[in-house]
Amino acid sequence: MLDLAGKHVVVTAGGTREDIDPVRYIGNRSSGKMGFAVAEAARDRGAAVTLITAPVSLADPAGVEVVHVESAAEMKEAVVKATAQADILIMAAAVADYRPKSKAKEKIKKETAGAGLTLELVRTPDILAEVKGNFLRIGFAAESEDLIKNARQKLQRKRLDLIVANDITAADSGFGADTNRVTLIDRQGKVEELPLMSKRQVADRILDRVLGLLAS
Ligand code: C5P
Repeated sequence: MLDLAGKHVVVTAGGTREDIDPVRYIGNRSSGKMGFAVAEAARDRGAAVTLITAPVSLADPAGVEVVHVESAAEMKEAVVKATAQADILIMAAAVADYRPKSKAKEKIKKETAGAGLTLELVRTPDILAEVKGNFLRIGFAAESEDLIKNARQKLQRKRLDLIVANDITAADSGFGADTNRVTLIDRQGKVEELPLMSKRQVADRILDRVLGLLAS
């Protein structure tokens, strides 16, 4: 069903990389599978889709505008640009919360750094919390404890319409897996616990709720 025809959906995916030097970075374990599944599901439902992705080992989906970025700062810039015309922003990316304060110009050598090396880190921008505009805002919350409580707090702090909470301690969910078990919490506080399903099925359930929120 083309129930998202005429809508522009911006989706982020993957884990950002924050450079330490020209060779090394700080990253995280996001595979990008959940974000790619959301982008493909939205495309198949008729939406115009912009997928902003940090480096992943997945092929660019056909029929989607793909923007490749590396760092949180680059992702923010791409999200600001893409959401100027968007109806829906779905932030499935695992954005690094900290980056090295400065990037070394040359590869850091152990011969000069010595036995220990201290990196000074600073906060990256919180993209979801900072990007303004008149579009629906969907976030993800990957938690290893107090799933619902932490997700609810994120929903409020980031002024989201819907949050997708997933327990990353379960082997069949979260990072790298093809399946996911998530709980959806909306801005009215409604909690919907979904059973284990493929990431594509999760994506469609998220989009079903997005349609409801667009109508309300
Ligand atoms: O990292 P955290 O659990 O706070 O992520 C919650 C949501 O916020 C996710 O949707 C993530 O993509 C988004 N986020 C963001 N900018 C950050 C950190 C997270 O937009 N710097």
